Amino acid sequence: MHEYSIVSSLVERVQREADAHPGAIVRRLHVRIGELAGVEIELLRTAFETFRAHTVCEGAELAIAAVPASWRCPRCDRAIPVGEILRCATCHRPARLAAGDDIILERIEMEVPDV
Ligand SMILES: [Zn+2]
Repeated sequence: MHEYSIVSSLVERVQREADAHPGAIVRRLHVRIGELAGVEIELLRTAFETFRAHTVCEGAELAIAAVPASWRCPRCDRAIPVGEILRCATCHRPARLAAGDDIILERIEMEVPDV
């Protein structure tokens, strides 16, 4: 399943971060999911809950922010409102997708023990 491979690469990245901070406990992952990224958020949660066992993310919470798709004109950078024709009214250029098609691991909250 697509969502499992996403979770797998997320956990790998978190593992690398955690390796840099020995003894750190991962508390929460903040992930931004674009509306057009092709990810089912509920499936992603389920995949995370299954996959995190025995990983650095075992006790971590997954905080997901959904990012709506947005388009801009590639020439004048005007934002094209959602629901409008995807073409700039001024330049008549086809709009370019500016956000909403990717998956971003935005932040990892870790608890680092005092030494
Ligand atoms: Zn334009």
